Amino acid sequence: MLRLPSFTYLQPKVLQEALAMKADAGPDGMYVAGGTDLYPNMKRRHQEPRTVISLMGIPELAGCEMRDARCVVGSCMTLTDLSASPPVRRSAPAVAHAAELVSTPLLRNMGTLGGNLCLDTRCNYYNQSYEWRKAIDFCMKKDGHICWVAPSSPRCWAVSSSDVAPVMVALGADYVLVGPGGERVVPAARFYHNDGINYLTKQPDEVLAAVRLPAPDGWDAVYHKLRRRGSFDFPVLGVAAWVKWEQGAGSRERGRVVEARIVLGGVASWPQEVPEAGAALVGTDLSDEGVAAAADAAYRPAKPMDNTDFDLSWRKQMTRVYVARALAELGQRRRAAT
Ligand SMILES: Cc1cc2nc3c(=O)[nH]c(=O)nc-3n(C[C@H](O)[C@H](O)[C@H](O)COP(=O)(O)OP(=O)(O)OC[C@H]3O[C@@H](n4cnc5c(N)ncnc54)[C@H](O)[C@@H]3O)c2cc1C
Ligand code: SF4
Repeated sequence: MLRLPSFTYLQPKVLQEALAMKADAGPDGMYVAGGTDLYPNMKRRHQEPRTVISLMGIPELAGCEMRDARCVVGSCMTLTDLSASPPVRRSAPAVAHAAELVSTPLLRNMGTLGGNLCLDTRCNYYNQSYEWRKAIDFCMKKDGHICWVAPSSPRCWAVSSSDVAPVMVALGADYVLVGPGGERVVPAARFYHNDGINYLTKQPDEVLAAVRLPAPDGWDAVYHKLRRRGSFDFPVLGVAAWVKWEQGAGSRERGRVVEARIVLGGVASWPQEVPEAGAALVGTDLSDEGVAAAADAAYRPAKPMDNTDFDLSWRKQMTRVYVARALAELGQRRRAAT
């Protein structure tokens, strides 16, 4: 059995107290929310904080509310609550759906939105016990020097495996970060780096406080997930598709896409937007030809690495299939609504 190392556990009651505790703890301190990612990682010695600061007792980070027609979701909302929340389901059903697809009910009862969006990147050579990793002399992401996936590579290719992050990037949601220097707001896309080690642009002492979903404005979005076991596993491919429909007077104009974003999860160290796929949809009504062009465009840059589940060439093929399925769902929904 893997055991947690000993550590000091702190429970601040307000956000400023959490920031002060982190400043006191320095690099040895880490925030925790539901702990479903951090605690298993500590057992495997991926992260080794001596002080763990819980965010779960901080009222500013809980719940969600409507502000200026935008739904603002606190980072400590559990995935269960997120998927059931009426304002979230009304504002962005794709967010609720992605949260619903994370792992199992037990995990969703503990895991939070903030933890999901800050999730550590994953790799078959990294998500192993300390002894397993030691037997291969570790790897670049922790304790070692080489990347076993791409031995001549100067970077780590561990994979972004969050279900909710690709949806946030596709929607163009804003993340509210609070640190010792105050508050700043970053678009979801700018929160992530395509680097398996430095995968977040957030500073270690900053707390992801809330996520602002965009106001309804003629857009729609969906999320589709590929995994081995439908009731449990991490995504090996996630497809978030967002389209904005023309708000013209005639029914013909109302059927055209004016802007679109396709974002892939599970194929890179960040949620990867494929601008060519979005561009292929503009001016179309999501007819079969438009969908096929976008699916092709998404297939080309998708470069799954051999460090998660399934054969990587099959996973690449599935990009085309899943993008087409996601867009078909959006098209059907549009036709049903008009
Ligand atoms: C068996 C298993 C299956 C899983 N399956 C999936 C899956 O299918 N899809 C998926 O997306 N994920 C999956 N996960 C990963 C993870 O459990 C979830 O993503 C969960 O949402 C993480 O949230 P948490 O609150 O438990 O994070 P924690 O473990 O508390 O934290 C994760 C990381 O985020 C940081 N952090 C947390 N909250 C904040 C904040 N507000 N501000 C700044 N930093 C913060 C922590 O310091 C830590 O580094 C799985 C995990 C397990 C163990
Ligand atoms: S991609 Fe390479 S460096 Fe990164 S975790 Fe895997 S083996 Fe390690």
